[in-house]
Amino acid sequence: NYISVSKLANLLNCRIETLIKDLTKLGFANISHNYILSREYVELILQEYNYVLPASQAAITSKNIYDGLKAPANPKFLQRRPPVVTIMGHVDHGKTTIIDYLRKSSVVSGEHGGITQHIGAFQIVTPVSKKSITFLDTPGHAAFLKMRERGANITDIIVLVVSIEDSVMPQTLEAIKHIKNSGNELIVAITKIDTIKRPKDREKAIERVTNDLISQDIPVEKIGGDVQVIPISAKTGENMDLFEESIILLSDIMDVRAENSLKTLVEGWVLESQVRKTVGNVATVLVKRGTLQKGKILLCGNTYCRVKLMVDDLGKDVIKAEPAQVVEVRGWKDLVRAGDEVIQTVSESVAKKYINRRIALQAVEKDAVTVENLNEQRREEAELQKHKNEIEDEDIKKSFVPQGPKDVNFIVKSDVSGSAEAIEESIEPLGNAEVRCKVISSSVGLPNESDFKMAQITDSKILCFNLGNLPSEVINNPYHIEVKQYNVIYKLIEDVTDILTDNLKPIF
Ligand code: GDP
Repeated sequence: NYISVSKLANLLNCRIETLIKDLTKLGFANISHNYILSREYVELILQEYNYVLPASQAAITSKNIYDGLKAPANPKFLQRRPPVVTIMGHVDHGKTTIIDYLRKSSVVSGEHGGITQHIGAFQIVTPVSKKSITFLDTPGHAAFLKMRERGANITDIIVLVVSIEDSVMPQTLEAIKHIKNSGNELIVAITKIDTIKRPKDREKAIERVTNDLISQDIPVEKIGGDVQVIPISAKTGENMDLFEESIILLSDIMDVRAENSLKTLVEGWVLESQVRKTVGNVATVLVKRGTLQKGKILLCGNTYCRVKLMVDDLGKDVIKAEPAQVVEVRGWKDLVRAGDEVIQTVSESVAKKYINRRIALQAVEKDAVTVENLNEQRREEAELQKHKNEIEDEDIKKSFVPQGPKDVNFIVKSDVSGSAEAIEESIEPLGNAEVRCKVISSSVGLPNESDFKMAQITDSKILCFNLGNLPSEVINNPYHIEVKQYNVIYKLIEDVTDILTDNLKPIF
């Protein structure tokens, strides 16, 4: 609920100087760019100066600043797209072999016989249904973790590979855990089935693996679930077509779609990036939405790109890249980071504007952290000072000795007013430089309620003269005030002198 002046200026899209001027007019003094404002003040400023703070901008940070560029999904333009598939499983259970097989088959089926280059993903066309599947080949990559952290689930289907020889192993269990958490759809490939020749033995082994999966709560088809289990050999190619078609079958059921019209602004994710000799900064982009084409402006992190060239994993030029397609994009001003989101902007100037704002926000956020620390430090210092002051106050109170002699208070009650005055006159002069007698009041009659209260407040003793035997309710008064009765004046004066002498002794 707090914001720095510079961050507010940024959100309002106005100059810091202007904002500071306005704040000064409102009565703020000594304002700097990292002055922290509370929500109430921000609201006041917004009202007073008609600044507009769009609701969607209220929580803009450098991380989500580009979200403002994204158009909401328009279901009218949702079109079917290929599924994006990741392969997971225990080491040596055959992931690479499957990828190699699929890649080779796609190269053979395509018109190019070029050398494949690793760009983090590739697309194949299935042999029977002739539909496309995108395979990501670096699922353990840091970029994927980053994308997941940011809530981007770029995978539709996870293929869990389990070797027919080893069945479920530690990393298989890890993968299962991940799959359950990710909410992705699952297909199981039992690999290396060529290693068991005899059909009966093979069947038994497949059953063993399937049962192991069931005991891990995987709802396989055998027990009425919807997880397909496909026994394959990527070495011999056995059942590989079935495997590919089972992915298509699942994606058909899932009905995977993405928005793709001429107007749709492209969105995607960076899978990998590098600086290539003679080519410059390149980034592999998985298109999530829209169609990527040459000349389009892409914004990513703190940099942007006018798409100069796009190539696929075979190094072949690509004219357009549609959702679920992966292409290497060339033309970036700076190197982008894997795992960052890519967004198309309508022009270079818009991209630059957002980059500048993001850089400013990043600086403010860094600042805000230091300002926060500083404020915390100030708070602590203030606490400390307050504590110190309190101690000092206590000390002053303690060391405070009233100047002059100490008063010992009395209230005089007597039978007649004349004697009361006489007593007052005779005892008031008693005392010395340290202690003296003070008559708070003198009056006629037995001590009453108000005398007791007064005695209590002033810490007085009550001296009675010629009042006869005092009633017990006076002696044992509920205020616990000491009440004394005298019949001779010198006795009274003697007693008062004794009391004063007692008071000479230091109390503390
Ligand atoms: P990864 O660690 O999961 O990527 O496993 P690899 O694909 O590297 O495979 C590990 C080993 O198993 C390699 O020696 C492969 O040749 C072998 N392998 C993989 N798939 C098969 C298969 O279907 N049949 C046979 N016989 N061997 C396989």
